Amino acid sequence: MARFTSLIDSLLKLLFPERCAGCAKTGQLLCAACCQRLAPYPGKPRALPGLSDVTIAYLYQSPLREAVHALKYRRRHRVAQPLGQLLGALVAEHAPRCVAVLPIPMHSTRLAERGFNQAELIARAAAADAGLPCLAQGLSRMRGTAQQAKLNARERQENMRGAFAWVAASAPPARVVLIDDVLTTGATMSACALALRAAGCTEVYGIALARSRPDLG
Ligand SMILES: [Zn+2]
Repeated sequence: MARFTSLIDSLLKLLFPERCAGCAKTGQLLCAACCQRLAPYPGKPRALPGLSDVTIAYLYQSPLREAVHALKYRRRHRVAQPLGQLLGALVAEHAPRCVAVLPIPMHSTRLAERGFNQAELIARAAAADAGLPCLAQGLSRMRGTAQQAKLNARERQENMRGAFAWVAASAPPARVVLIDDVLTTGATMSACALALRAAGCTEVYGIALARSRPDLG
């Protein structure tokens, strides 16, 4: 059966070759040239409440922006694979001793609209690359926070207070790493970290794939 599936896979690839989500060149989901053009995020973001450390992998600019858009808005789920793999090594390097990877959850209404949580798809690929389990169930978004874009950093933090909670019957692992796709002010990640600490986590690390500006204002 596995052989048959891989045969079908090869046939599909031949008929519909992969296109790079960054530059649309045929061949891979994220080509080597695009990977080389990824701009590492300069420096460290400002410390965020609840988080032991925050790492941002890249600046949110072309070709990464195109790749994230392909995943999020054009629903090319498989693009999460190379994007998550970009974070695998960072988990070991920047979130030492962590025993599980958690995606930033999406509110159930939003999840029903979109059909998938892109942060979860990226987190799954990153977790697999790092050899850790991905826990996508326990941390839950309790309410939507739709007006977030119009608020400043302090207001966002206030707005996010209590938006997340740990809802699983058993406590979360003590040391975990949160994964998000694009970080803005960090208020969401911070609120998740505080909810995890309230549930018993002692160390919560944050890793985001990208952020636009080199400051957490
Ligand atoms: Zn490319």
